[in-house]
Amino acid sequence: MFALTIQNACKQRRATKNVKLHIPPTLRKPYRVLIACSSPSSEDFLDIPLSEDEEDMGKRFPIHSPLKNMSEYKWEVGTLYVSREEFKDCATAYAVSSGRGLRFSKVDLRRVKVECVEGYEWYAYCGKSKHERSWQLKSCNNKHNCSRELKIGIMHAKWLSKVFLNKIAENPKIKLTTLMRKAYTKWNVELTKSKASRIKQFALDELQETYIEQYRRLYDYCHELLKTNPGSSVHLKVQRIPEFASERPVPGVDLRPRFERVYVMLDACRRSFMACRPMIGLDGCFLKTPYGGWLLTAMGWDPNDQILPIAYAVVKAETKDSWTWFLQHLCDDLGVDKIRTCTFMSNQQKGLVPTFKELLPGLTIGFVLDTCMQISRRDIQRSS
Ligand SMILES: [Zn+2]
Repeated sequence: MFALTIQNACKQRRATKNVKLHIPPTLRKPYRVLIACSSPSSEDFLDIPLSEDEEDMGKRFPIHSPLKNMSEYKWEVGTLYVSREEFKDCATAYAVSSGRGLRFSKVDLRRVKVECVEGYEWYAYCGKSKHERSWQLKSCNNKHNCSRELKIGIMHAKWLSKVFLNKIAENPKIKLTTLMRKAYTKWNVELTKSKASRIKQFALDELQETYIEQYRRLYDYCHELLKTNPGSSVHLKVQRIPEFASERPVPGVDLRPRFERVYVMLDACRRSFMACRPMIGLDGCFLKTPYGGWLLTAMGWDPNDQILPIAYAVVKAETKDSWTWFLQHLCDDLGVDKIRTCTFMSNQQKGLVPTFKELLPGLTIGFVLDTCMQISRRDIQRSS
């Protein structure tokens, strides 16, 4: 995120090009143009003034960016934070990483003050910017006269759930003792079992909300894909309950559509494949999300011998019906003539052979003897 004043920009242009610019009277007052970017790290400084004074106009202030080891965080007056929560999270992360007993002595809609419990020497005071939504560090004293604390009061479960969110998303059945051990090795702090349980619950609730929201926006996502990749092929199939046909709201019955399957082939991938070797690898794997499902993929090889994704689909399960639906769309998009020239490779995916026999009759199907033997040997070993 960065900003610049029109006056400053004009000054710079005049200096470099030596051209007299006419600035309309309405623009002579300092204006701020804000352009938001997704990654704050792309620009380290902002030109937002700390005060209304002309002298401060054009001053550059650092933007907060979290460090891996927050105990080395530099508290610099003028640092900008996106929101109050970001400042509070930053203070909490600093307290936990450096083992300082901090507390929030003031929290309201315009200011937040965090200070050391012992001695009150260290403090950081953050206030809301007058004309921006951002928050700014107004003053701080970065000297501690305290000793290391083992109990960090501001290390609350909500903050910890954010820290452990990825870990819990990877394994929603993670043990509480694992979380406790991780917190101990990472920051040398002890978590109680009830706190670890709350952390896990907060993270699972957050993930659940995120997943529901993502499924809710699938239509938008498909439209966005088609808008940004013209010529692509996107198919979304949903389930409707029988009550939906009556077109009348039934009390206590959720009439909203339910996701069934989605198929995506981007135009750029399709065109790339047309120029590559006619070989398609088909594979499927299950998805590790709370709602499960299977990911079916069709891959090609590019001239550099690298994987070229052709199409993918998310379906309920790997069945003959799912493969038929997936391959039907693949044939429609690539054309039956192209498909007939292709060699398919798969690892005995469930329901794939009958699908081929049905969709493309007359196709020669072969098995790699070595792979078949390996699979048979593995099955025999398992059964014995
Ligand atoms: Zn201190």
